[in-house]
Amino acid sequence: MEAVGRRSFLAGSGATLLAGCAARGGAPLAALRSPRLAPLHFDREHLMRTTVCLRPFRPAGPRLEIERFGEKTVIHNYGHGGSGWSLSWGCAAEATALARSSGHDRFAVVGAGVIGMTTALRLVETGAQVTIYAEEFPAETRSARATGVWSPSSRIALGDAVAPDFVDRWERWSRSAHPVHQGMIGLAGDPVEYVTQYNLGGGDGPYPAASRDFLHLDRRLRGLNPPWQDLEADQSPFLGREGRFGPVLVFNVASYADRLSQLFLLRGGKMLRTAFPSRAEVLALPEPLVVNCMGYGARAIWGDESIVPVRGQIGWLMPQPEARYAIHYKGVNAVSRRDGVVVQYLGQNDDWGFGEDREVVDHDETDRALAAMRELVLA
Ligand SMILES: Cc1cc2nc3c(=O)[nH]c(=O)nc-3n(C[C@H](O)[C@H](O)[C@H](O)COP(=O)(O)OP(=O)(O)OC[C@H]3O[C@@H](n4cnc5c(N)ncnc54)[C@H](O)[C@@H]3O)c2cc1C
Repeated sequence: MEAVGRRSFLAGSGATLLAGCAARGGAPLAALRSPRLAPLHFDREHLMRTTVCLRPFRPAGPRLEIERFGEKTVIHNYGHGGSGWSLSWGCAAEATALARSSGHDRFAVVGAGVIGMTTALRLVETGAQVTIYAEEFPAETRSARATGVWSPSSRIALGDAVAPDFVDRWERWSRSAHPVHQGMIGLAGDPVEYVTQYNLGGGDGPYPAASRDFLHLDRRLRGLNPPWQDLEADQSPFLGREGRFGPVLVFNVASYADRLSQLFLLRGGKMLRTAFPSRAEVLALPEPLVVNCMGYGARAIWGDESIVPVRGQIGWLMPQPEARYAIHYKGVNAVSRRDGVVVQYLGQNDDWGFGEDREVVDHDETDRALAAMRELVLA
């Protein structure tokens, strides 16, 4: 069974049709604006697995600062909400500068999610001796269960809880992270690439505003990615659906995380599997400086009760290399990544999943998300 079906038989893919136009003297812009898409299969038979993950959300935004415990220095770098992949390199750079300013050259990094791996890599690249201690290694972490798109202000903070300099800080993290991600476009394994996303109307919106003052700061980054355009119904690759479309930066998390581990080990870093039952064991590590990148784990170990879990669930469909695009429709997001087509219900607003620490699969949620996608028909 095919989820996004096609009305009529396609003799060639969009790429072939455009190549034909180009050979006859250049593709008209209209043709570029209405590519023919290969169908994505949004049915249960293509479902590989379903995963659940908790975003480590802090109303005040990520915690990135030094704390001292006697002889031991701790640099906290956790609480990145729904933006950890996006902001990782920016926060890693700041954490590295803080660590290096301590005068030490031997560091422990606790945590091997995207925040721990990027911070450890930046540190080892300064010539320091770095050991990562983590209960879960990259492929097992919550980071490995993310949607994998550039989303630097997704569940990042609440407007009424942040410090006055937060937005400028956030912008610095975002602007310094973005070129690092972009620099991975075209590398073996395609850790990062742009795909076209279609935000389609005609669903069940408009939705009510969230009950909390979530910060949405993307406007501050205008111009960082190529622009989006309106999608008219008569030019839409989806029958009768208008909306907006444009490029989205996608992180193919499997190869991205693998690349981070390989680079870290290649540069002389060490990784030790260790589960810390309490803060005392972390503070007993032999390194004089510890960078705390424990994500949601910091809530229990560092007693940070300001961390709120924000649950998110993803259905993973079989990879479809021939259909590389993303769709947002009826509160459901689908991204065709190299390591699978990820489908996720995002809810009517950012309240969805807030305060929920239920890390178990809800099969109905995935079935509903797939059913919404099956409403779409290719033109
Ligand atoms: C459904 C979903 C979709 C998302 N999509 C995106 C997206 O598209 N783009 C984006 O930018 N962000 C996204 N995010 C957010 C992103 O995934 C998080 O911000 C990010 O994973 C946080 O990374 P982390 O390294 O801090 O935490 P984690 O990945 O949770 O890593 C924590 C590490 O600390 C270790 N640890 C914790 N406690 C202990 C302990 N007691 N002892 C030893 N080790 C410990 C763990 O084992 C692990 O290695 C999404 C999140 C969710 C839930």
